[in-house]
Amino acid sequence: MLIDAHCHLDFADFDHDREAMFERARAAGVKHFMVPGTTREHWSRVLALGAARDDVSISLGLHPGFMDEHGDGDVEALAGMLDAHPEVRALGECGIDARFEETLEAQWELFDAQLRLAKARQLPVVIHCVRANDKVSKRLRQLDLPAGGLIHAFAGSPEQAWKFNDLGFVVGLGGAVTYERAQRLWLAIKRLPEDGFVLETDSPDMPLCGYQGQRNEPARIVQVCEMVAKLRNEDPATIAAQSTANVRRVFDI
Ligand code: ZN
Repeated sequence: MLIDAHCHLDFADFDHDREAMFERARAAGVKHFMVPGTTREHWSRVLALGAARDDVSISLGLHPGFMDEHGDGDVEALAGMLDAHPEVRALGECGIDARFEETLEAQWELFDAQLRLAKARQLPVVIHCVRANDKVSKRLRQLDLPAGGLIHAFAGSPEQAWKFNDLGFVVGLGGAVTYERAQRLWLAIKRLPEDGFVLETDSPDMPLCGYQGQRNEPARIVQVCEMVAKLRNEDPATIAAQSTANVRRVFDI
């Protein structure tokens, strides 16, 4: 059995065939889905999906890629939602995307505020971290979060992955692992501890090699699992079991 540890199944990309997408995932052995909220406007859709389906667990946050959609009061609103909805398993998706330089300062402010919320509530955190692994792990170390979390779509070195593991975070392995150019990531995957990673797709984003330009979906996590298994010289069933155990531990599901 597989869990997709990070997939945006609330996005409008799935509005026309959401049920069929879930069916394809089930047929491929993907039995549970972690769906993160990214903007205040999207939280109600995420909550509704989580309420409607036993196989969906959710988190809520303010994503650094949508800075122009976040407004004053969104962090307070997030605090209120977390208090009102105990079924929310984590805070996120939040984080830092250093590709967007012009909003970087505001991103850090928003990220810090969310990390403090997670700490106060002892919630794990789902983190989007692009070109900022060292700065983010330094900040996480300073804050000493009690419940760890997920560094989703990890792309980095073995040393960066181990640092996150030391802080109680698992790294998320997705479509990026299927590309030949991901040599540094492949090295990290070979050297990760078995309790240090989870499998994810980030659907509808992060298409696998061979599917560029297409919508991604959870059923394709099987190919991510196969690639990780190959790199670690393991059976895909073993990798799937390890990932599932890690998702359950981190998000208490
Ligand atoms: Zn995401």
